[in-house]
Amino acid sequence: MTATIPTSRAGRPPAPQGQWALGDRTPLNANERFKQEDDALNVRARIEQVYAVEGFDAITSDDLHGRFRWWGLYTQRKPGIDGGRTGSMEPEELEDKYFMLRVRVDGGALTTEQLRTIGEVSVRYGRGTADLTDRQNIQLHWIRVEDMPAIWERLEGVGLLTTEACGDCPRVILGSPVAGIAADEIIDPTPAIEEIQRRYVGDPAFSNLPRKYKSAITGMATNDVVHEINDIAFTAVVHPEHGPGFDLWVGGGLSTNPRLAVRLGAFVPLDDVPDVWAGVTSVFRDYGYRKMRHKARLKFLLADWGPERFREVLETEYLGRALLDGPAPEPTADPGDHIGVHAQRDGLHYIGAAPHVGRVSGETLTQLADLVESHGSQRIRLTPHQKLLVLDVPSDAVEAVVEGLGELGLDARPSLFRRHTMACTGIEYCKLAIVETKGLATATIGELETRLADVAEQLDGPITVNVNGCPNSCARIQVADIGLKGQIVTDDDGEQVPGFQVHLGGALGLDPGFGRKVRGLKVTAEELPDYVERVVRRYLAERAGGERFAT
Ligand code: SF4
Repeated sequence: MTATIPTSRAGRPPAPQGQWALGDRTPLNANERFKQEDDALNVRARIEQVYAVEGFDAITSDDLHGRFRWWGLYTQRKPGIDGGRTGSMEPEELEDKYFMLRVRVDGGALTTEQLRTIGEVSVRYGRGTADLTDRQNIQLHWIRVEDMPAIWERLEGVGLLTTEACGDCPRVILGSPVAGIAADEIIDPTPAIEEIQRRYVGDPAFSNLPRKYKSAITGMATNDVVHEINDIAFTAVVHPEHGPGFDLWVGGGLSTNPRLAVRLGAFVPLDDVPDVWAGVTSVFRDYGYRKMRHKARLKFLLADWGPERFREVLETEYLGRALLDGPAPEPTADPGDHIGVHAQRDGLHYIGAAPHVGRVSGETLTQLADLVESHGSQRIRLTPHQKLLVLDVPSDAVEAVVEGLGELGLDARPSLFRRHTMACTGIEYCKLAIVETKGLATATIGELETRLADVAEQLDGPITVNVNGCPNSCARIQVADIGLKGQIVTDDDGEQVPGFQVHLGGALGLDPGFGRKVRGLKVTAEELPDYVERVVRRYLAERAGGERFAT
């Protein structure tokens, strides 16, 4: 393949940003250096043969702060350091000798055996911790490097991976939680998800990308994999001549300079999805910007090239053929979170249930596996909203499963606030965090359920509340109705206290867009329930007709 150097939309060649396609692979920052010096995937052997034997202090800095991520491992925050000091300390001063371990669950699909194994690993090695993330991963904490060989043996023994769960590589592939079972599914994406994982996860051809790379695939018409904020996404469409298949989107992402993904106007049949995925990933690998990490996501290349040029390079240099033009999917207002009891197309039922902001425990996971199996099912799915689904429940077992879930703290008929609130990891474990998130969000849900009980019937649509512990966007604050960005704020007494910058009116789905940062609107953590209550009451009092919160 001979790479051409495409011009930007303005007709200029792009300024050199460390793109490999320009022919110079000199690493331009510390991350590019360690990635080139030794493939990050190679750290697995050192963990098993050296670090697990000699302990935390033997780990080199490049491995600890760089390559470990390719195996789902980050150091967690040292307990007791308040958020006001986060920005003034070196990362090493903030870190503990324990790790967070992310288990990737591609497509969110788990067997009860896998779920039980994660639960047992959590109890034995992670002090019983477990969080369901908004990317269909399960995250454990308090992991010691000495235990990693045994943990991998347990996880991989049941087909679970931590490979490339973090790092500049293909992260977990989001998939519709109702793939293969929903009565209204357009096409089952499972074969494509499984094939991409089989071929490319852990493939050295894609283990050094310019930055993290997020994928999503759904066969549902609803927005159930937040496709607009992924680097690459395939959403379901029906081509007038070729039938069901996928519409290709690229270049979405949050954090700094958030951008929604754009359509390339291309129709991709199911069998072609893995090849097209590899083509887009190769464009990113070769043409992506590697000079500055905050400009390295695929969205920046897309912004410079535009979708037409991107598609042209994809087709001519990587696929060797033109893609079919395809129709656009119809946007829907359905939140696509699958909470509640729903009929499957085979006559069984799936039940979507909400923990509080993704927080569960190892014990809960093993008990959930027992509950599900006792009613004849062996399948669980995770959602991109920190929730989970139990599949394959017979009609006569539905109420028993709903009740059993409730006893485990998993509510299948949750309040609107419990259903639509998410929170990132926050100061409890995250080195970047400025404020606590999960405990506050859980307490706020409880407050709102009580305080707003009188208007619960009027709340006929979702109001999403997303709580972040710092200016990053792990809990997607820019696309929430009420997005809360953690920072230190000044309270009425002039004290510096934990609080949030408020963003209002973000959304995905029908009217996708980013919330507005409300200038000067900051709330302390203590005031949060008061603030959300005021906003909701005002919305109900002032909305016109069927006006949704986001509009
Ligand atoms: Fe950590 Fe910030 Fe991400 Fe929350 S948003 S998990 S505090 S980096």
